[in-house]
Amino acid sequence: MAARRLDGTAWAARLRDEVRPRIEHFRARMGRPPGLAVVLVGHHPPSEIYVRNKIATVTEHGCHGELFRLPETAGVDEALDLVGRLNADERVDAILVQSPLPAAMGHDAEQRVFDAVDPAKDVDGFHPHNVGLLVQKRPALVACTPLGCAELLDREQIPLKGQHAVVIGRSDIVGKPMAMLLLHRDATVTICHSRTRDLAEMCRSADVLVAAIGRPGFVTPAFVKPGATVIDVGINRLEDPAEVARLFADGSPKAQQFARKGSVLVGDVHPDVEAVAGAITPVPGGVGPLTIAMVLRNTVTAAELRAAARG
Ligand code: NDP
Repeated sequence: MAARRLDGTAWAARLRDEVRPRIEHFRARMGRPPGLAVVLVGHHPPSEIYVRNKIATVTEHGCHGELFRLPETAGVDEALDLVGRLNADERVDAILVQSPLPAAMGHDAEQRVFDAVDPAKDVDGFHPHNVGLLVQKRPALVACTPLGCAELLDREQIPLKGQHAVVIGRSDIVGKPMAMLLLHRDATVTICHSRTRDLAEMCRSADVLVAAIGRPGFVTPAFVKPGATVIDVGINRLEDPAEVARLFADGSPKAQQFARKGSVLVGDVHPDVEAVAGAITPVPGGVGPLTIAMVLRNTVTAAELRAAARG
């Protein structure tokens, strides 16, 4: 039987609607909308799309969203200077520095720039202060992608208490905060990565499997216990016909889409997993829209917390 589809698009719409009254209340009380500043450095086509979607979503819901661009050649000092100005700007409640920064900025640029964001405005929850609060189970601003996954699991009433959750991926952006959110919901959590031995076997013991790897179709049915819930965080754009043929049967909707558009988006989970899993998120239309909804919600949360701190 095909897995139940966990509709991220529909849940994201609900989550965004839930934030509307909070935005109205903030505007009425403060005389201005919650403000999100997005920093984009250089030219990275996928980032352009993510940034556009994030700003469009916050502005459509009555917040102020503004893009601050720096050229590809910008140095880390320019980025730090911009973040410093945004930290000092009272109308900016939330700051998002779009990852990745250009490689030429240096290997430690992301950490330096993320660390420079005022923790109270850290809409992505990447600052060590916010990571520490999450680890101690007193979260304030939590990374948007894992937060969206946790919301989905909660709202779909997927059992987590005492269940085995396996997260493939240990990035600071997805894997680690995801593991914390699952742990705080009383799951028994295993984090896997590129050095994990017997990965497929480990994953097969999962009641809930989260794939955040960045490898198209990596998680095959051999990784999945029948009936398990599978959350596919990966977003991979395929442009190679051989790769598409490896994953999708001739004439399938994705193969047809590829024939029309020359590229297709796929997750980290192989399409055949749908026949084994109990519930699964699609790509696109799963985790992606939830991430954007959480950018909106975190913007509002940051605005409220800052207003409350000022009394
Ligand atoms: P990273 O590259 O930072 O991390 C990937 C993780 O996968 C690493 O921990 C790595 O292990 C692990 N990994 C890589 N290869 C293997 C392997 N063969 N076996 C087991 N583990 C492996 O990626 P991110 O966490 O930033 O993102 C992961 C995916 O999620 C990407 O596709 C990204 O595009 C997508 N994403 C989607 C978002 C959304 O809104 N839907 C938002 C953010 C990301 P190791 O640490 O050992 O190298």
